[in-house]
Amino acid sequence: MRDRVTPLLSEAQIRARVQELGAQIAKDYAGKDLVVVGLLNGVFPFFADLVRAMDLELEVGFMQVASYGGGMESTGEVHILKDLDKSIQGRHALVVEDIVDTGLTLFKVRNLLTDREPASLKICTLLDKPSRRKIEVPVDYVGFPIEDHFVVGYGLDLDGKLRNLPYVGIYHP
Ligand code: 5GP
Repeated sequence: MRDRVTPLLSEAQIRARVQELGAQIAKDYAGKDLVVVGLLNGVFPFFADLVRAMDLELEVGFMQVASYGGGMESTGEVHILKDLDKSIQGRHALVVEDIVDTGLTLFKVRNLLTDREPASLKICTLLDKPSRRKIEVPVDYVGFPIEDHFVVGYGLDLDGKLRNLPYVGIYHP
């Protein structure tokens, strides 16, 4: 599997960009009651690096939604597998995602969380594939916009594997 991956973003590139994002977010939320909501599973390395780059008092929470039935194409269906275990009502929520592709996952998650009446709701993603969007969803912080490639590593999987690659690479089937 690993021999089918060509590097796209190096560990050093990711590290530098995550530090920038963390600093920007910390500045934007200074003095606010912030809950950072990670979308499992793919977000785990990015999330851990990002919150540690925020010099800020904050809380973390996690949700898990399923959008891909395994394989490389979105099914368009989004199921909530694990819900957030804390209230965001009247608080500032920042949803953190690994990659925005069609936008269907975030659209659904955004509606669901908006119904809970947070003081604000913003979205941060490490990677964005704007050319693949099927539905408009505002993304407030983007690590790297990328072309339409299927990428793996730094949390992103192929059928559950390759999440532990320390860099992001393009998978060639
Ligand atoms: P969307 O709902 O925006 O189409 O898809 C979001 C989810 O699809 C991501 O959280 C991720 O799990 C998966 N996904 C989209 N593009 C890629 C990709 O290039 N590589 C991998 N590994 N997963 C992707």
